[in-house]
Amino acid sequence: MSKMGELYLNTEKEEIAFNASMYEDENPDYQSSCCSADPFGNSFDEEELTGICSKCYDGANFNDLNKEGE
Ligand SMILES: [Zn+2]
Repeated sequence: MSKMGELYLNTEKEEIAFNASMYEDENPDYQSSCCSADPFGNSFDEEELTGICSKCYDGANFNDLNKEGE
């Protein structure tokens, strides 16, 4: 394998790991009202509590679990 190819592969792997950790941090406890699923990717609008449901991939309203219960 050429040096360029090796470099590309490493960068790609790091980017995937980086994105995964980003999503973990940016997904607080929100649940779609349709499926009780997480918001999909970065589709979530925190102010409107709307986004794409990660289960049915349709637009959905979300509940903020941190604000509910009491
Ligand atoms: Zn859904």
